[in-house]
Amino acid sequence: MTKEEYIDYGEQHLFHVYNRFPVVFHHGEGMNLYDTDGKEYLDFASGIGVMAFGYGNKAYNEALKQQIDCILHTSNLYYHPALCEAADGVARATGLDKVFFTNSGAEAIEGAIKTAKKYAFLRDGFAGHEIIAMSHSFHGRTVGAVSVTGNDHYREPFYPLMDGVKFATFNDLESVKAQITDKTCAILMETIQGEGGIYPAEPRFLEGVRALCDEHDILLILDEIQCGMGRSGKMYAYQNYNVRPDIVTTAKALGAGVPVGAFVVTEKVAKNSLKPGDHGTTYGGNPLVCAAVAKSISLMEEMKLPEHVSEMTPYLEEKLEEVTKKYSFATAHRGMGFMQGIVLTIPVGEVVKKSLEKGLVVLSAGSDVLRLLPPLIATKEDIDKGFEILDSVLAEF
Ligand SMILES: *Cc1c(COP(=O)(O)O)cnc(C)c1O
Repeated sequence: MTKEEYIDYGEQHLFHVYNRFPVVFHHGEGMNLYDTDGKEYLDFASGIGVMAFGYGNKAYNEALKQQIDCILHTSNLYYHPALCEAADGVARATGLDKVFFTNSGAEAIEGAIKTAKKYAFLRDGFAGHEIIAMSHSFHGRTVGAVSVTGNDHYREPFYPLMDGVKFATFNDLESVKAQITDKTCAILMETIQGEGGIYPAEPRFLEGVRALCDEHDILLILDEIQCGMGRSGKMYAYQNYNVRPDIVTTAKALGAGVPVGAFVVTEKVAKNSLKPGDHGTTYGGNPLVCAAVAKSISLMEEMKLPEHVSEMTPYLEEKLEEVTKKYSFATAHRGMGFMQGIVLTIPVGEVVKKSLEKGLVVLSAGSDVLRLLPPLIATKEDIDKGFEILDSVLAEF
């Protein structure tokens, strides 16, 4: 089939909830993707921050193949070896204590919300608690996750959402303080805001929120679904700060290509919140995804990918600086590690489209940010090549 035939075929029965780009990807190798016509693309998007090792990592693929031949699914009524190994890996990577595996990022947020509510319920003896979330945040598309997402566009058609959510301004400590009441059970934020436009938390803000949480016995929930798993130059982005959260949500690169997420809590939170019967999922943490999680984490450690990202970041930032110097419509860049954004005053969607035509896969974030999330294996040569293509795209505007 030609590209157009595939697209027509798909559109016959796919619910049109995504405006997909007219590209039909067929396979990938390392940093590159190939479409059904054999055209090569350099990937600076990682399937939205998922493919940390790029495409076709042999050790990762082998681990999954072995697990498929061993056992695919058992349910959470029993233990299996990959589950134990994956939980150990997540605890090692996050520095937290207890792990619950989910099937997506949004579900990890759901679990974190329930954990915080149960914690406050046990503490106070009654329900009805509040969560403080942030402006231009993104936490996923389930009703609970949309309830804590600070973007009207994602919320309005679905009212009424979950009650008891208040919004503060990201990176404004006073605005958080102003929302705290004796009913507050949790403060939820991304350590580096992704979809909202690539805003890293300022150290003073994050440390200030941690102090507020300690003062009021409020749980700090950090959403590391996009910025976690090596992308920031540390295994988890909060490890760049002097902060330990009470709950972490993780997904995207956690399974590096299979649908899995987790919420991870401290010993103290685990002892004082969800109990058997309070929460569950059929697939969550099944053998296939756990084999992927265990391998992703051990590979990331062996390959020292967070260190590699740290080493490459100054070079990447130099390139970003060149772009903002050269083009007046590129007004700023911001980010951390391999999670970077360029603020544009020209239509970002057009830039993404033109980049694809020229063989570079990039993303947008918010309405005016070009977002770069390359696989963590990207070398200087890959960065050079990506910015060469990007330069030729921007030169046309
Ligand atoms: C992608 C994302 C989510 C939602 O994850 P899904 O797996 O799409 O449900 C939540 N929070 C952040 C920060 C994300 O980037």
